Amino acid sequence: MPDRTRFTLDEKKMPTSWYNINPDLPAPLPPPLHPATDEPAGPEDLAPLFAMELIKQEVSMDRFIEIPEEVLTVYRTYRPSPLNRARQLEKSLGLPEGIKIFYKYEGVSPAGSHKPNTAIPQAFYNKAQGIGRIATETGAGQWGSAMAIACALYGMECTVYMVGISYDQKPYRRILMETYGAEVVSSPSTRTKAGRHVLDMDPESLGSLGIAISEAVEDTAMREDTHYCLGSVLNHVCLHQTIVGQEAIAQMEMAQAEPDVVIACIGGGSNFAGIAFPYYHRKLEGKSSARLVAVEPKACPTLTAGEYRYDLGDEAGMAPKVMMYTLGHDFVPAGIHAGGLRYHGDSPLVSLLVHEGEVEPIAVHQITCFDAAVAFARTEGILPAPESSHAIRTAIDEALAAQEAGEDRTILFNLSGHGHFDLAAYEAYNAGELVDYDFAAGSTMSEGGA
Ligand SMILES: *Cc1c(COP(=O)(O)O)cnc(C)c1O
Repeated sequence: MPDRTRFTLDEKKMPTSWYNINPDLPAPLPPPLHPATDEPAGPEDLAPLFAMELIKQEVSMDRFIEIPEEVLTVYRTYRPSPLNRARQLEKSLGLPEGIKIFYKYEGVSPAGSHKPNTAIPQAFYNKAQGIGRIATETGAGQWGSAMAIACALYGMECTVYMVGISYDQKPYRRILMETYGAEVVSSPSTRTKAGRHVLDMDPESLGSLGIAISEAVEDTAMREDTHYCLGSVLNHVCLHQTIVGQEAIAQMEMAQAEPDVVIACIGGGSNFAGIAFPYYHRKLEGKSSARLVAVEPKACPTLTAGEYRYDLGDEAGMAPKVMMYTLGHDFVPAGIHAGGLRYHGDSPLVSLLVHEGEVEPIAVHQITCFDAAVAFARTEGILPAPESSHAIRTAIDEALAAQEAGEDRTILFNLSGHGHFDLAAYEAYNAGELVDYDFAAGSTMSEGGA
């Protein structure tokens, strides 16, 4: 009997609660501040934008929060997601038996990434509160497609402000969103004051994630029936993603393996939180001693080169100020292909854990990530999203370092999504046209975000 490769969790064993890290943090989380007054922002400041249940989750001190049955039903259409051992990759690297690489695969969701894990509950709680329409923004289109699907499933309208240059250059994600019934607006648009202001200054503006957020928030403020949703960074988004790590713990138990290191890429922090926070809890229970590693691009090195301080969440200053690692809210990273990792800040929860030494951040260049992605595709058969390739690069480097040191090591990483909509990036890589950008040499391209 060959050793097993795939660890399929029975549907009945899918977790029915999310894990909330708030009560287990090593230090109190500094509160968000109102951007105009610098006073702590309360529920009444957030209520015009978010569903009340989501605001409660944002500050909840309950360690486990039950997942509503209506959300579980939709989760079950694609969850539990698979956990595989990367045997063919291990073999191609010539690793000894004591070094094992496992990955949790979130590309099986209808959007092709982990993002529906939070889009679905966000749509559900808004619908339950009588909200009929969601406004949101998207960069390359991953978050917008997740939200478009979730709104379709709960019978809600969805308007997505898509960064203009992506709208023009990346039509397939737009077509996907429209096919799910969402309205996609190229940003900056003439629909909002924020958009018109930008167009007055520069009629040729390519847009940016900061401008698209401002447009979505302004759209929300103009209409009674509309709320705003965000795809990463916030506590409730990290919370919803913990379904990933809880499943992974159960699946690693099936594999009779305990990871020495847990790895995920980091943009706003949600897929990292998803796999790492449940392991953080497991460490507190004394059942794990895993290192938790967050991997960011060298072109946008928020955790490794940013400052830990209060900063605005968006360019225009409409969102609350939060305590986080930041490169400055006006920082525009170079045009790397991992669009979902081009955010100037990071989740306040993940930032706190980095500051307290509980999470190890590292930064890697994009070409070496694509080398790893292609090696992975040719051995494991899955074409990874450029974002996820950062985790693969680091998993391979961990394995090679263990081999060099003559140590055993069990490595687990989160494969946050597939790269079927990122083929232009692979075309550039295949043609040898990719470039690495250093942080200091950051370009002025304004495209970006997930
Ligand atoms: C959006 C995205 C990311 C980065 O966002 P996080 O909030 O840091 O998870 C990573 N991988 C994929 C596939 C994405 O779509």
